[in-house]
This record gives sequence, C-alpha cells and structure tokens, in this order.
Amino acid sequence: MKYISTRDKTVSLTASQAIAQGLARDGGLLTPEYLPQIDAAFLEGLREKTYGQRAVAVMKLFLEDFSEEELTAFTQAGYYGPDKFDDERIAPLTTLDDKTHCLELWHGPTSAFKDMALQLLPHLLTASLRKTDEEKTVCILVATSGDTGKAALEGFKDVDRTRILVFYPKDGVSEVQGLQMKTQEGNNVGVCAVHGNFDDAQTGVKILFSDETLRADLARRGYFLSSANSINWGRILPQVVYYISAYCDLLNKGTISMGDKVNYCVPTGNFGNILACWFAKQMGLPVGKLICASNSNNVLTDFIQTGVYDKNRTFYTTMSPSMDILVSSNLERLLFFLSGGDDRAVAGYMKQLNTTGSYTVSDALKAKLQAEFYGGFCDETRTGEIIKSVWEKEHYLIDPHTAVAYGVLAEYREKTGDETPAVFVSTASPFKFCADVLESLGVEKVAPGLDALDQLTSVSGRPAPAPLASLRNKAVRFEGSVDKEQMIDVVLEMLQ
Ligand SMILES: *Cc1c(COP(=O)(O)O)cnc(C)c1O
Repeated sequence: MKYISTRDKTVSLTASQAIAQGLARDGGLLTPEYLPQIDAAFLEGLREKTYGQRAVAVMKLFLEDFSEEELTAFTQAGYYGPDKFDDERIAPLTTLDDKTHCLELWHGPTSAFKDMALQLLPHLLTASLRKTDEEKTVCILVATSGDTGKAALEGFKDVDRTRILVFYPKDGVSEVQGLQMKTQEGNNVGVCAVHGNFDDAQTGVKILFSDETLRADLARRGYFLSSANSINWGRILPQVVYYISAYCDLLNKGTISMGDKVNYCVPTGNFGNILACWFAKQMGLPVGKLICASNSNNVLTDFIQTGVYDKNRTFYTTMSPSMDILVSSNLERLLFFLSGGDDRAVAGYMKQLNTTGSYTVSDALKAKLQAEFYGGFCDETRTGEIIKSVWEKEHYLIDPHTAVAYGVLAEYREKTGDETPAVFVSTASPFKFCADVLESLGVEKVAPGLDALDQLTSVSGRPAPAPLASLRNKAVRFEGSVDKEQMIDVVLEMLQ
C-alpha cells in the first residue's frame, strides 16, 4: 500500500517513509491511497484476542513494510501492558444502559487518550528510520496545550536514537498538567515553559521547524527535527484499533449481534480521533452515524451543518482545553476521501483557509459529509451540568471532554429519535481536570494544587490514577522558562 499526499496524489511513499517524514513536502497530509477492507470473519477472529493482538491484526493491514513479529514486539514493548496501563483490557467499555456505552481511553501512563497512539509512535518511528536508512538521531519538538506534551514525553523517554523537547505556555496548563511535565523522567527529554500563551509556543516551534540555518547546524551535529502531533500517520493508525476493538467487546457482551450498526460519539479538537473512527467505518466496521462533539469552539459543528468552515470567530478558553482549537488539521484527510480523492480541490480549500480563514465545500461534498456525520456542541454551563447529572444518575464520574460527548449524544438522540446503540468516547481521566470537575459537582471550596486529587477521591469514592497520585513524590526537574525568541537557544543547548 502506498501513501499519498492529500494535496498531490502523485506522491508515493511506503508506510515507513510516511511515518519518518510526518508531513508531505507540499504541506499536505500523508494518507493511505485506499482503505483495506475487513469483514465479519475478521471481526469474529478478533473477539477472543487481547487488545495488543487486535492492534497487530489491524495495523498490519496498513503497514506492509513491517513484519508481524515487529508489530508484535512494539505492542509488547511495555506498550499495551500492565506496567503502562492500569486496566488489563487497555481500552475498556463501561456500559451505562443497554444502548449507551463509554469507551475509556485514559488508562495509560498520562491519563489521557493521547497515550493510545503516543506509546506506540516512538517504536513505529525508530523502526521507520531504520527502514529508510536515516542515520541521524531524531529530535521531536512539541508545542503543547497540555495532554500531547506529557504523552509524547512518556512515549519517547529513553527510546534509543530519539530526543524530545516540549514547550508549554507558562500560565496555560492546569496545575496537574504542569507538574506532570516538570517532573518528567528520562535521559533524552527536555521541558521548557514559554512566556505567553499556547499560540506563542506553537508559533515558536513552527519558526524552529522552518529555520534552514538551524536545520543545517543540527544536521552537522547528527540530528534532525520531527513532530509528534496528529498530522503523522503513526498517530492516527493506532487509534483505528480501539473502534474495532470496542465493537468486538460489544459482541462479546452480547448487546449487539454481528453486523448490527453502532453509533460513535467522539469529543473532537484536531479531528484526529473521530477521523480514525471514520476510517474504521470505511474499512467495513458496522458504524452508523459518527457524532462529532465540540465545546464552545464549535467551528466543526457549523461546518457539518453548513458546509462552510470559518475560523474567523471568537476563541474561547474552556474547561475542555484539548478541544480549544479553531483549525482542525485532520479534516483535510476526510475532505480528500469525501471528494473522491480530488487533491486539487483539497489544495484549493487549504489555500483559502490560509489566506481568508475560511472555505466552502461543494454541495456534493457537503451531502456526503452530512450523510456520515452529525455535529453538535456543549457550552460551558451544559458541560458542567452533565458532569453533575451523570454522576448523580449513573454514579459515573467523567471529565469535561467526555461530558461534551455525552451531552451531544443525548442531543442527537433527542433531535433525531435514532436509538441505535451508541458508544461515546472518554478521552481523559476526571482527575486530570479536578478543579473543574469538583466545581461542576457543586463543591464550593476546591482544594489547591494536588490536594484537589484527594478531594475528588473523597467526594467520589474513586481513587486517583496512580501516575497522578504519585506526582507529589516526584522531584521537579525542569523549572526553566524563556521568551519565545529564546526557544532556539534551548534547542541548541539540548542538542550539543
Ligand atoms: C486531544 C484531545 C481531544 C481531541 O482529540 P482530537 O484527535 O484532537 O480531535 C479530546 N480530549 C482530550 C482529553 C484530548 O487530550
């Protein structure tokens, strides 16, 4: 299987080249040229397998230049195992009622769903470097608003021939998120705060990536820069697995029969997670509607409803910060497939987005989009109400991102009457966002710092995930902070 660019179909790369390269040279996203098909027999064969075995079976359909032995080794290199995940099912389903199930993706080392891909990406990437005869050491540069940075640090820590350097906005992450990064262990890691907001950190990283002098200087030192965000195919592919796995789990629970459709509702920011679900559907997984859930930054809701993507709007800082995004990069891959592989149309839309901040898709594309997707959003008040009511009615504690998904699923059912069994996706542990969860539950005085973890335990009777609880005992290793202009010095110092 070849990988092509969404902006130029004549690009033709192997899977390992696509993963090593990250982004196409023309700025497009590298994407498999077709989607392999799975059938009932394939799903039947997965039912008795472990999560790691399911991952190998699905991923090998896309990674022809990787052997089954390699993939098995990666998924076992501590990745989908008990020293990393606190639930042996890895991505367990919790059933609220016969038709409503929650797919919990936060049982990994950093308590957010980014682990599902970022535990594996370093192994896919280093193997890809070997296969493409790249001899330099890769340095992953990340600008993060919270979850990605920590998950990437945990994934890449002490992985041979890799370095990782994470920049985060000094006052733009939650207390828990900040501590998670400042206490990061490992011999190949660096973390630095940037004065300013997330945009400052991200702009700073983009400038480093396009700095040709820096590139040449680092090459002389034996390094090259790469990125770990969800534009890399190695981030999307591991996410296809859990949608297929959840379907097998529903079969095993006996709540559906083979071939029955299931709706999936995904809390969405950069469109990576829900895109993986759409890929699973295109491969043949019996999925009904894909429900795209946004917070107040509802650019995707409007897009699905009108066919107009317009990022010229107010940016809101919400209690679901990982969805505070106005440009959802992975939408480009969906546009490519829905337009029937029209690379010129996609390049045109992206150019308009760059110059005017908006584009309007063709009527044909809009019709396809609406046939597959429903878009809805929850504002802050409703998100808080949902955290409280799901706790009171179901005795189930969810974080703000998950609450957005739950709320949009409820709205979808009310508006359409579609009672197809549904899975809503839980992307973070509620303990990662203690303060907002406690406030939503009606607690008047939220304890400062990590004491809020204990407070949430005593209110809910649930223990905090071990990696969060143990933050208290960890030494702070990275206290530095710099202005945007000094980020280059941090890179040069780390890669001596
Ligand atoms: C990253 C993230 C999301 C959004 O996922 P996308 O793939 O960017 O759509 C949702 N919830 C949490 C907790 C996240 O960390």
